[in-house]
Amino acid sequence: MHKKLIVQKFGGSSVANVERIQNVAKRVVSYRKQGYNLVVVVSALGDTTDELITLANKINADASEREMDMLLSTGEQISVALLAMAIHKLGEEAISFTGAQVGIITDDSHTRARIIKINADKIREELKKGKIIIVAGFQGVTLTQDITTLGRGGSDLTAVALAKELHADECEIYTDVEGIFTTDPRVEPKARKIDWITYDEMLEMASLGAQVMQARSIEVAKKFNVPIHVRSSFSDKTGTMIVKEVKRMEEVVVNAITLNRNEAKITICNVPDKPGVAAKIFKDLASAGVNVDMIVQNVSHLRQTDISFTISKAEASKAIKLTKKASKQIEAGEVLEDEDIARVSIVGVGMKSHSGVAAGMFDTLAKNKINIEMISTSDISISCIIKNTQAEAAVRSLHERFGLAK
Ligand code: ADP
Ligand code: ASP
Ligand code: MG
Repeated sequence: MHKKLIVQKFGGSSVANVERIQNVAKRVVSYRKQGYNLVVVVSALGDTTDELITLANKINADASEREMDMLLSTGEQISVALLAMAIHKLGEEAISFTGAQVGIITDDSHTRARIIKINADKIREELKKGKIIIVAGFQGVTLTQDITTLGRGGSDLTAVALAKELHADECEIYTDVEGIFTTDPRVEPKARKIDWITYDEMLEMASLGAQVMQARSIEVAKKFNVPIHVRSSFSDKTGTMIVKEVKRMEEVVVNAITLNRNEAKITICNVPDKPGVAAKIFKDLASAGVNVDMIVQNVSHLRQTDISFTISKAEASKAIKLTKKASKQIEAGEVLEDEDIARVSIVGVGMKSHSGVAAGMFDTLAKNKINIEMISTSDISISCIIKNTQAEAAVRSLHERFGLAK
């Protein structure tokens, strides 16, 4: 009879120390004893990836992306070996692999590589021998044998891609919260766990900063219809199912609030109001691979205007340099940078068919004396850039306003 295959992914906090690694090993072994085939994806221990980035910055703030990948991929290699040892100790057979060893082939865009294909024969062979397979998350290898990483939070992507490739019966993402909540439960303790959520809603939340799932992993799950169960590695409770469709009698208008503190804002003052100016600025940023998010251009005043945009903090110094240069070339004025901002967003499929949602958001922020610096909208979300110091208050008041609190 076909034995069920489960892909289980354990995030950094789930393997942060010896006791937690042993805990994960126990859970894996208990599934094994129930007769499942298991492919286990693991992230680096605790904050290892952040620590490695800090270390690299001390050596060279402008380190090559290839060498960054070489460095960061070591974090996950430690985890897989330790988890395999912990499972051996419990008397089960397990074998650990790096991304390269299990044929996760990517393009060569280092630090954010895309998976081209997976040659999973090695995994299938070892599964046949009855072993538990432990795979290092977040990493792959190019066709020319260079190690790559898949972007922050990339172990989620490793798990989803393997679940698809191996036709797994289940894909479980174990983390340090009980599932997907109406907002980050660390910011708002009154946040409620969501039982079922669609790929589209989850993708919007992830793109807007809910770090619990990597956005790219949801894109892949959606494309290949891989259902995901997000749950806690510290309990046996059912978590959240991320699926294609959720049958609700009526859509709730807003079903989540997200917060993103990883963006910075750049403003170019006194930009000449004539054709080609915005093209010049954003072409230079794009050529350097800088991802620009929100863009706002003010009304022109004496044939001059201000343009503001946001980018990720990690790319801020590169973006500032490029923008200052472009600003000179187009004869614009000063370039200002603000890292003390946050993006709060409301997300909900029901927004498509309801009016007054934006007004409700702005009104709530106003009542809490929170100034809105930028606004952007999509079909199913509205985002505001505000001062970072007011971010948590904004999240809590919006959570309350849209009836999400428990
Ligand atoms: P892991 O190490 O398991 O990959 P992450 O730190 O990447 O875990 O993601 C889990 C964290 O995401 C939680 O601890 C929580 O603070 C945060 N988070 C943000 N938004 C949400 C949300 N809407 N629901 C659940 N967790 C969220
Ligand atoms: N360790 C990597 C990171 O911190 C990958 C992951 O945790 O998913 O981004
Ligand atoms: Mg994560």
